[in-house]
Amino acid sequence: MFDYSIKDADLHNKVILVTGAGAGIGRSAAITYAKLGATVILLGKTVKKLEAVYDEIVALNLAEPAIIPLDLKGATKQNYIDMSSTIAAQFGKLDGVLLNASVLGELTPFNQIHEQTFNDVMQVNVTAQYLLAQALIPTLLLAENASMVFTSSGVGSQGRAYWGPYAISKFATVGMMQVIADEYEGTTLRVNAINPGATRTSMRSSAFPAEDKELLATPDDIMPVYAYLMSDDSIKENGSTLKAQ
Ligand code: NDP
Repeated sequence: MFDYSIKDADLHNKVILVTGAGAGIGRSAAITYAKLGATVILLGKTVKKLEAVYDEIVALNLAEPAIIPLDLKGATKQNYIDMSSTIAAQFGKLDGVLLNASVLGELTPFNQIHEQTFNDVMQVNVTAQYLLAQALIPTLLLAENASMVFTSSGVGSQGRAYWGPYAISKFATVGMMQVIADEYEGTTLRVNAINPGATRTSMRSSAFPAEDKELLATPDDIMPVYAYLMSDDSIKENGSTLKAQ
């Protein structure tokens, strides 16, 4: 695992938005950030899942989260701009965003990729991330120090047969992270990515249905790097892709 002690991360007084907060890695990250003192904003598609995470955080007597139900497939540029303004009005700033939500699409030979699947994966994994990142930057710049964290994958630096649209979208994600990181170098905004590695979630199960899930790291296991990148301990980190495992 990434060498960092979660207990060292102090996220008190920080406001952190997590996309895909209702399940898998995003759910773990939201709860971890709340436990470390942050007020978390839970963004996701399925309201019931977001409400369950909200209830879990409130039951732990942690700072009350906010919920933003949003489908990244259909959301418009104006939706993201309005969301950013609402966060600025309600909290005065945004200290961190974990751009975690994404879709796998279908694993299929390149010459059989459906145009619709390709477009859907690009919409959620690339276009929505760009619109969200662009809209949030002004609110992130209101914080003393802010952290934008993208989510990569092993197939985002080395392509693999049958992983077509997803792999292509993850290369784009890393490219986007590096572009923004370079533009904001030396400012209060740092921009990095995490490659989670094989992790026990429903996305992993759909990609590898036959594997023994017990051998995989759980979302909670991989939280050290997620805590590090949101804490002030990572203030000097910019433009990096860090491996969670
Ligand atoms: P899951 O499929 O378990 O969770 C994905 C989350 O994203 C869900 O909360 C889902 O919400 C949300 N989401 C999906 N589509 C949309 C949408 N259109 N609008 C809003 N929210 C959406 O995935 P993981 O937790 O496994 O993956 C998290 C990240 O880590 C992803 O970026 C993935 O690519 C990356 N990753 C994961 C690996 C693994 O082994 N698990 C390995 C490498 C990278 P809902 O449930 O409501 O649909």
